[in-house]
Amino acid sequence: MTDTAASGTAGLLERLGAGPVICAEGYLFALESRGYLTAGPYVPEAVLEHPDAVAQLHREFLRAGSDVVLAFTYYAHREKLRLIGREDDLEEMNRTALRLAREVAAEGNALVAGNVSNSNIFVDGDADSARTVRAMFDEQVGWAVDEGVDYIVAETIGHANEALLALEAIKAAGLPAVITLAIFREPETREGLSPAEAARRLEDAGADVVGLNCVRGPASMLPLLGPIREAVDCHVAALPVAYRTGGDDPTFLSLKDPDCACLPEGRPFPTALDPFACNRYEIAEFARDAYALGVNYLGVCCGAAPHHIRSMAEALGRRPPASKYSPDMSRHAYFGTVDEIPAANKAIADTL
Ligand SMILES: [Zn+2]
Repeated sequence: MTDTAASGTAGLLERLGAGPVICAEGYLFALESRGYLTAGPYVPEAVLEHPDAVAQLHREFLRAGSDVVLAFTYYAHREKLRLIGREDDLEEMNRTALRLAREVAAEGNALVAGNVSNSNIFVDGDADSARTVRAMFDEQVGWAVDEGVDYIVAETIGHANEALLALEAIKAAGLPAVITLAIFREPETREGLSPAEAARRLEDAGADVVGLNCVRGPASMLPLLGPIREAVDCHVAALPVAYRTGGDDPTFLSLKDPDCACLPEGRPFPTALDPFACNRYEIAEFARDAYALGVNYLGVCCGAAPHHIRSMAEALGRRPPASKYSPDMSRHAYFGTVDEIPAANKAIADTL
């Protein structure tokens, strides 16, 4: 299959050659907050139980400017399905997710991406573990190829060596590979490589796009991107979480909320991150800054909402369909500036 065969539109690499590509992620958090899957195990059961909700979120991200509909198969792998007693549903969950993505992508000029992720059972240096994980990647990649994806994303992977297994599975299927690593508090992979060195190894092994996703928000991800950009010649990706990480708390897992005494887990992650949410302008600023560094595959991971993606698209000079409803404060009841807003309202704007 060629890069452009599946969708009949320009393929991923062609689009990246012409300008930035936006890929909305963050489906687990978005659908958990809407009540369609369980925080903790974070298995995309919504694909089978609430397919309309998944399709609607795809549609909202598409309207907001995502160039890609990412199949919601994050954690739809054998280890996770076994964990919740649904291993028998593995193939149906994957194929249904891929078909939902393809259907919505066809409504716009979007690419369809397959998706594999951290296995959680990878043990560095253990050949048995590597074989098991590779087999998990192979079966998911196989279903994605069957269902006609344009390329495959391997994401949120902490071990560069596990990411290499995912990359091998994707390249064996002959598809473009986007590989994004998750970098925890220490700015290195779990085997101790700098992100730049890990990216270089992934490029050498055939990755088409390398970069980072999840775990870190814009402020603590941005400093890691320049060295990656310098280390590789291929395209570079950045998809931060939409939370205000930084300083002593570079990851959304490490954030603390001393203003709240009612956190059941004692920490905001993962279900009480609301006070740390990035606003749309912070996401737009990240998009501009990352693009200026030479990062051209951009998106948002956990915490992403359609308004973030629209702001990212607009920051990159786009005007997606949802921009029809972008803010117009000139017509606000009190802060408005147009003549039709009564002077009496304008006069009290600063007292509200
Ligand atoms: Zn994430």
